[in-house]
Amino acid sequence: MALVGVLALQGSFNEHIAALRRLEVKGVEIRKPEQLETVASLIIPGGESTTMAKLAEYHNLFPALREFVKMGKPVWGTCAGLIFLANKATGQKIGGQELIGGLDCTVHRNFFGSQIRSFEAEIAVPELASKEGGPEVFRGVFIRAPAILDVGPEVQVLADYLVPSNEENTGSEKKVIVAVRQRNLLATAFHPELTADTRWHSYFLKMATETGEEASSSIVAVGAD
Ligand code: GLN
Repeated sequence: MALVGVLALQGSFNEHIAALRRLEVKGVEIRKPEQLETVASLIIPGGESTTMAKLAEYHNLFPALREFVKMGKPVWGTCAGLIFLANKATGQKIGGQELIGGLDCTVHRNFFGSQIRSFEAEIAVPELASKEGGPEVFRGVFIRAPAILDVGPEVQVLADYLVPSNEENTGSEKKVIVAVRQRNLLATAFHPELTADTRWHSYFLKMATETGEEASSSIVAVGAD
C-alpha cells in the first residue's frame, strides 16, 4: 500500500494518521514541499484555514500543493482542508487568504456560525453503503464548519444537509452540500477523523487506488511522447 501524506502544519493531522493506522496504512507527516514527492496521495486536515495558509506560505508549500492537485493525485480535504481545495471561498475573513484551488465549488467559511454553533448530525451518504446493505448514515462532526453553496458540472455531490430552521435563518430551512468528489479530489465539511468510524478513510483509500493509477499512467503516457 502506497504511503498517504497528511499535511501536518496545524489541526487534526494526528487524528487522520491514527485513523489510517486503524486501517493498517501509514500516514506520513508533510511539512515541506519536497516531502510531497514521497507520497501518492494527500489528506489536508481540519483546523483553522487562515493559520494553515500562513504556515503553508511560510514553508513555500502552495506551488507544490497546486502541482500535486493538477497532476491528478488523490487529495482529501476535511473542513479547513475543504476550504483550501475550493476554487472560491466566501465568508468571514476570507479576503487575501491563499487557497490551493482545483475543486470547482464555492465554499462558505464558518457557514453555521461560531464555535458554539458546532454540532453533530446524522447525514445520509449513499456512497458509504456497503454491498451487503450496510448503513449509509454517517455521524458528522461539524466544528465551525464550512458549507458548499454551489458546485460545477464535474463535481459529484456525496452528501447534503438540511439546516434546521432557527432564529438566525429566520425560520426557513436550507439545504447545503457537505461532501463532494471531483475526480481525484474529495472534500468533507465535517471531521471523520474525530470519530471511530473509518468508512470515509476507506472510501478515500479506494478512490486513491483508482485515481492514483490513472494519474501515474497519464504521467507515463506524457513521458513516452
Ligand atoms: N472554520 C474553520 C476555518 O475557516 C474550519 C473549521 C475546521 O476545520 N474545523 O478554517
